[in-house]
Amino acid sequence: MSALEYDVIIVGGGPAGMTAGLYASRARLKTLMLEKMILGGQMMTTTKVENWPGYPGGIDGPELMMKFQEHCVEFGLETGYGTVEKIIDNGDSKTLLVDGQEMTCRAVIIATGVVPRQLGVAGEEALVGKGVSYCATCDGAFFRELPIAVIGGGDTAVEEALFLTRFASKVTLVHRRDKLRATKILQDRVMANEKIEVAWNSVVGGLESDSSGLTGMVLRDTKTGQTRDIAVQGLFVAVGVTPTTGFAADILEMDEEGFIVAGEDTLTSIPGIYAAGDCRTTVLRQVSTAVGDGAVAAVMAEKYLEELKHTV
Ligand code: NAP
Repeated sequence: MSALEYDVIIVGGGPAGMTAGLYASRARLKTLMLEKMILGGQMMTTTKVENWPGYPGGIDGPELMMKFQEHCVEFGLETGYGTVEKIIDNGDSKTLLVDGQEMTCRAVIIATGVVPRQLGVAGEEALVGKGVSYCATCDGAFFRELPIAVIGGGDTAVEEALFLTRFASKVTLVHRRDKLRATKILQDRVMANEKIEVAWNSVVGGLESDSSGLTGMVLRDTKTGQTRDIAVQGLFVAVGVTPTTGFAADILEMDEEGFIVAGEDTLTSIPGIYAAGDCRTTVLRQVSTAVGDGAVAAVMAEKYLEELKHTV
């Protein structure tokens, strides 16, 4: 890859990255969007998006992402596949180390999103694929007529619990407090669903398994300290997210959880590097906010390039 082949390199191909790509390509900037594996990000494992405007009744995440992708292609966005290992700031140019190869550009938009956070109980990692999962859409169908549990009280946990009632005989939603964090409409649906039982003020104290996989777990009441065993063959962990930002940790300012410090203008601590979508410090992480961020980041990059007075 020759030096300064691109005006902008976008790292990440979810809603934020694709929107940045669309805007940058439409502004006739020479743009490359780099994705590690599959375009679409977390939306690819989302069954139904109900709060993306324009689709009353909702739209499947993968279907929406296919439309995003088609739209990017219309404006000639170039997509590449590879893992960004490091970003080096050379002032007016940036070098990206991608699978050991150097790529150079003027501006970088980081839109790498987040991955599900682990629960952190003993045996969790060893039981992934043997009962423990972080994705109901991916693994729900393996638990037909079986009892399962979902851990967490946010939008993800509640959406996953509702989705899993299609398959499971019973879903225990385990939440560490006595009030769900999820949006009210989802809470109402959980309360109205006969297949869901909420274990309030409860945390997972341990996992039980045999050679076939997960067989149960120990729940501990956070108020009384009492423990009880429940039989479950599936455990879906939805206790929040961790940003995918490790590759930039040595150069960009991040908060204590690893989110890139950037405001609504997507500016990071380094001129010419922008952070868009779930990976930045923000109060809301949704497709709509990621899309807004992507657009802002591309426009900010365009202005920056104009100020540099040279594009590739
Ligand atoms: P979240 O909103 O951060 O919720 C995480 C949940 O897990 C909280 O209820 C938290 O409890 C609980 N938790 C955290 N650590 C725990 C631990 N160690 N043990 C037990 N429970 C633990 O994460 P999320 O639900 O993945 O959502 C992430 C973002 O995506 C949010 O902004 C959310 O609104 C958004 N999202 C939106 C939609 C939608 O609009 N349809 C769907 C999915 C996600 P506490 O409540 O006690 O803190």
